[in-house]
Amino acid sequence: MRELREIIIHCSATVEGIPFTVEDIRSWHRRRGMSDIGYHYVIHLDGTVHPGRPLERVGAHCTGHNTYSVGICYIGGLDRDGHPKNTMTEAQQRSLANLIRRLKAQYPSVTQLHGHNEYANKACPCFDVQRWARALTIA
Ligand SMILES: [Zn+2]
Repeated sequence: MRELREIIIHCSATVEGIPFTVEDIRSWHRRRGMSDIGYHYVIHLDGTVHPGRPLERVGAHCTGHNTYSVGICYIGGLDRDGHPKNTMTEAQQRSLANLIRRLKAQYPSVTQLHGHNEYANKACPCFDVQRWARALTIA
């Protein structure tokens, strides 16, 4: 297993309530010339967690931060007008928190949790990961 140091959260940048899937994202990324989906996990609207790129392989989700990170993407991130919004359902939030806890327990070298927007001039994942994690005491 490669060394994992941080978890980076993303959104799919799709309109809230539309149930895109891990396979949709995989085909979008392949069409952009990537070998596979760039994220390691995708969380559907119903909160189910779906594996993307195998964890042992370096992802393609955050420039300059892929080597030691895990990329997690939730479906959503835009309101009806296409503006950034935290559209996570209750089920998605619960699953995201549980997945983070599980990864940190399984890989103690994972000590950092960040949103994509902390590393790039982007809205993704359309919420403040630090504040969210503090509130859930998973930071
Ligand atoms: Zn992102």
